[in-house]
Amino acid sequence: MKIKRGVLRMAIEAAKNMHPNEFIALLSGKKDIIDELIFLPYESSEFSALIHMDMLPLGIRLYGTIHTHPSPSCRPSSEDLALFSKYGKVHIIVCYPYGENDWKCYNRKGEEIEIEVVD
Ligand SMILES: [Zn+2]
Repeated sequence: MKIKRGVLRMAIEAAKNMHPNEFIALLSGKKDIIDELIFLPYESSEFSALIHMDMLPLGIRLYGTIHTHPSPSCRPSSEDLALFSKYGKVHIIVCYPYGENDWKCYNRKGEEIEIEVVD
């Protein structure tokens, strides 16, 4: 699985704009390359972001999720782990201060994995 640098940048920008609230989006794309962020209506607060999965467009290829932490910890919470196990296989957490390298990628079990960033 790979991710386009532009998608990552877009998510990082959104994270900065939303701070101190969390932001969550879905990762989609084709041929194992994530090249699309899908924004869905969600409830946001400083502590949690809950996505409305019932509003997921039909027919999208769901690779995973991306969300932010307004704290410097990229560690998944227990709510995150529940989300990870349900939707897709790649889950990215971007954490404060939302720099180019302030993110980590996890599999559906919440184990840290490497993902290649491509241009
Ligand atoms: Zn989280």
